[in-house]
Amino acid sequence: MRRLGDRMAKHPTKSIEEVIEEASRYLNEEHTAMIRHAYNYAEQAHEGQVRKSGEAYIIHPVQVASILIELEMDPSTIASGFLHDVLEDTDVTFDDLKEEFSEEVALLVDGVTKLGKIKYKSKQAQQAENHRKMFIAMAKDIRVILIKLADRLHNMRTLSHLPEEKQRRIANETLEIFAPLAHRLGISTIKWELEDTALRYMNPQQYYRIVHLMRQKREEREQYIEQVIDEINSQLGDVNISAEMSGRPKHIYSIYKKMVHQKKNFNEIYDLLAVRVIVKSIKDCYAVLGIIHTCWKPMPGRFKDYIAMPKPNLYQSLHTTVIGPKGEPLEVQIRTQDMHEIAEYGIAAHWLIRKVRQVQISKKTCHDNWHGLEKY
Ligand code: MN
Repeated sequence: MRRLGDRMAKHPTKSIEEVIEEASRYLNEEHTAMIRHAYNYAEQAHEGQVRKSGEAYIIHPVQVASILIELEMDPSTIASGFLHDVLEDTDVTFDDLKEEFSEEVALLVDGVTKLGKIKYKSKQAQQAENHRKMFIAMAKDIRVILIKLADRLHNMRTLSHLPEEKQRRIANETLEIFAPLAHRLGISTIKWELEDTALRYMNPQQYYRIVHLMRQKREEREQYIEQVIDEINSQLGDVNISAEMSGRPKHIYSIYKKMVHQKKNFNEIYDLLAVRVIVKSIKDCYAVLGIIHTCWKPMPGRFKDYIAMPKPNLYQSLHTTVIGPKGEPLEVQIRTQDMHEIAEYGIAAHWLIRKVRQVQISKKTCHDNWHGLEKY
């Protein structure tokens, strides 16, 4: 398969030392030692096992733990990332894990193992919904789902080593079960990568076509975004508001979906440019909105206040679409840094925020969070 626009290049395999180093930036010495112990334990348990790629098996759990560290998860979750396949693939038992680590770690690994045993076959939407519900009911602790998502993400990154038929089955399951779960938890970064990688295997022709079209217009697009940002910046300077701005990257799968469902061609979708503005306070969000609506004419029906009314997955932001400087629609998203973190990392950002406030994360809190979300 061609490697044009391959996102895998962005995810080089990390060594255990790099992974531990990253964890030690936010974990204390005791916790860092505990997760290193989890690595050593898993390494010994998987000794001699290899993946389809021919690499030592332990490389996989190390990358899974690394994804959980990027989400700044708690030490038990990271340890469980290292250990997530030992119950399934080695002689290690639940009691071994409980004794060696804690009941918490044993339960997390056990939860991930049980989820792995649910097989998904159907292609019907209704079945997919039931399947997702079953996942939720079985997971009990929301962190089990986070580990499972990290596991699936690394499996998708290394999918090229499997036979084509298996690739398609796994990619389909990823689109129907795992990406929607990531969305429900608000973890956009994982959701987008799962969707884009799945599309690459489900419909490579369309995937590479979109990648190619996006590249062709990149320079033109970047210049235009720069012009828009300069203009907003000069207006903000007048009222003394500081903001971070960037062009919002569009994801291949979301373009593909619009092309299919709205029967639009690439240019109709891609010309819709988008800018993201990140400011210090909620007050500033509304001030920036006012400024943007003064500069450019808003399109009717396109303003959404997700700050006053957050989405079920806790997403908050102001959205508007205006007729931009070139007479073309321009999407603008405005939010604070905290909101941005939740927009990218969802439920995982809540761990981070709690950690900063030094509030103990109890299992009950995790449970309440999860079942609070289930209502939607
Ligand atoms: Mn695994």
